[in-house]
Amino acid sequence: MPASPTPVLADVATRRTRALVAHERFCTHYGAPFRFFSDKDALSELISALLSHRTRNADSHRAYQQLRARFPTWDEVRDAPVADVEAAISSCTWPEQKAPRLQAVLREISTRCGGPCTLDFLADQPVADARAWLESLPGVGPKTSAATLLFSTLRIPAMPVDSHHHRVAQRLALIGPKTGPDAAHAQLEALLPPGWDAQQVYDHHEAFMFHGQKCCYFHSPACGRCVVLDQCPFGLARLGQAAPAAYPSQGSA
Ligand code: SF4
Repeated sequence: MPASPTPVLADVATRRTRALVAHERFCTHYGAPFRFFSDKDALSELISALLSHRTRNADSHRAYQQLRARFPTWDEVRDAPVADVEAAISSCTWPEQKAPRLQAVLREISTRCGGPCTLDFLADQPVADARAWLESLPGVGPKTSAATLLFSTLRIPAMPVDSHHHRVAQRLALIGPKTGPDAAHAQLEALLPPGWDAQQVYDHHEAFMFHGQKCCYFHSPACGRCVVLDQCPFGLARLGQAAPAAYPSQGSA
């Protein structure tokens, strides 16, 4: 993040209120409810997410399509020569690393489930258990587990935090300046109302992501036209404006 004023982390009640204010304004501004973009089953979504790491969307999409065209089932991907899998996903970054990793994940799922590869059983688990199960697989972190559960047809309300979402949350001081993306998942999810369904969680993630893409840029955020400027310690300090009188008090956590 560019050199800038460091927002002081507010107390949890203030952060919760601010997260919901930002949610409402972003959702109104960017046009929620947002349509789910994926209709993949959970295992296909997991494989897609693993292919997408540090890869342009178009390239990882092509790798996924080529993998599906070459191998009709995930069991066949699991059992194929690694060189064939690597060739099928050659359009994404580091196919030589991703191919053996995909196969290791598929083997681990098969071993644990004692049969064909599937993640459909996660539909019957509490969100925290489903996330923990996925994150115990090799190479699966909080963002991938949440994306698998939320974006797939399981539609389980687990919230992914991508780089845009993370940056906006940090500038709004919903998380601390040193909180990395992995740790941010639990902290940001804890600010959401516990009863939110998958659509609400999806809207929250998408709205924060859109804001990062369309206004709160990494370099030169457009604070002057931002719909949450009055809520944002980073933006207010950057523009040299004082917080309004109604602005919640800041804690030192
Ligand atoms: S005020 Fe500026 S830094 Fe804060 S969220 Fe808006 S664009 Fe980002």
